[in-house]
Amino acid sequence: MFEKVLIANRGEIALRVHRACKEMGIATVAVHSTADADAMHVRLADESVCIGPPPTSQSYLNIPAIISACEITGAQAIHPGYGFLSENARFAEIVEAHGITFIGPKSDHIKMMGDKIAAKAAVMAAGIPVVPGSDGAVGSDEMAMKIAKEIGFPVLVKASAGGGGRGMKIAQTEADLANSLAQARQEAKGAFGDDTVYLEKYLTLPRHIEIQIIADSHGNVVHLGERDCSLQRRHQKVWEEAPSPALNSHERDEIGEIVVKAIKSLGYLGVGTIEFLYENGKFYFIEMNTRLQVEHPVTEAITGIDLVREQIRIAAGLPLSFTQDDIVFNGVAIECRINAEDPVTFAPSPGTITDYHPPGGLGVRMDSAIYAGYKIPPYYDSLLGKLIVHGKNRAECLMRLKRSLGEMVIGGTKTTTPLFQRLLQERDIIDGNYNIHWLEKWMDSNKPE
Ligand code: ADP
Repeated sequence: MFEKVLIANRGEIALRVHRACKEMGIATVAVHSTADADAMHVRLADESVCIGPPPTSQSYLNIPAIISACEITGAQAIHPGYGFLSENARFAEIVEAHGITFIGPKSDHIKMMGDKIAAKAAVMAAGIPVVPGSDGAVGSDEMAMKIAKEIGFPVLVKASAGGGGRGMKIAQTEADLANSLAQARQEAKGAFGDDTVYLEKYLTLPRHIEIQIIADSHGNVVHLGERDCSLQRRHQKVWEEAPSPALNSHERDEIGEIVVKAIKSLGYLGVGTIEFLYENGKFYFIEMNTRLQVEHPVTEAITGIDLVREQIRIAAGLPLSFTQDDIVFNGVAIECRINAEDPVTFAPSPGTITDYHPPGGLGVRMDSAIYAGYKIPPYYDSLLGKLIVHGKNRAECLMRLKRSLGEMVIGGTKTTTPLFQRLLQERDIIDGNYNIHWLEKWMDSNKPE
């Protein structure tokens, strides 16, 4: 097992990884920008190295600085967290070339899944159902029109290099298509330096349901059930829950088996998430994330498995400590993303945290790196923490969520806490009756005067 691990991230996820390391007797190295010198992930780590000025391109994305930090401190492995360099195949390659272990999948798999067209082709060949669309990139507008007519409008133009909902445009009718193609290409070029786009049938009222898998280097692959991440704003997840209120155990077993078989045939290593849209009882693959997800704690809550611990064990060459038959899904868990944002307009709300009292008690977990006196740096995302609540059934979970949100004290900045308190009053939320458009529609009809 590793003696020392470098955590190439910040905020709550850096802390999350630190905690798993400490429970495994592994020393930790934090890296940080000058803006994060007083951050909690730096304070708790055994050692820390400043890797550059505040902009991410010069710090958290600065590969030479991170490798140097590893060499100076003698860390044997790097955990990338999520975001930043976690899905950067070149980074994984460079890390391994320096004799350091990358705690994640092989770089080939990161590369393959980072190219959505290649990913779709690979999983389709491995037996996973996908959204009908163009088989590969669309070149000319004429070709796109021909394919769009075949699959039927509305269609979605998506960027092959896409992420975070960028480079994605709907064409409702033939008249929109040229415009949507141009916009998606332009956005993708700007954001990813690659304007390759493809077409998918636009599913009108699907849910977003993703399957968590975990694979070791001994050929064992296990799925840990699904998460329902349908409550989104601008393609960004806001509330995640496990299990999905829409699936029965038969459907769960069926899709789980398909995914496990495919992942085995791909020879994938580590944790991964296969994202699907789910409509009228059918699953349609949209993408695979080759890293730990923000919403992983809901899976941990219902399975009792520490995903970060397993990631580290797998990277060290150990086999999974459980089999598929050992996995028992216990109760319901919901995660709410508490952001430093106005709960109605979602405008960022920078500032200094004056008071902080996280909720607690049975079944309540708050993953956060904030503290009273913490100044929120303007350079990074607005996630202040994640509230994860677990109950023996959905009713208990909702009751506990309401109770926990009522206890939350974060002074000095606006947060999204009141949004969740309002959502908990909605019949559809109580009934688990929502799809990927529900939240935006609700926001539109609940705009302030
Ligand atoms: P990104 O990598 O940019 O997050 P995804 O492919 O994961 O892109 O899609 C993000 C979200 O966009 C999905 O959760 C869903 O809300 C919506 N979406 C993606 N593909 C489709 C589709 N074919 N039909 C309808 N909505 C879609």
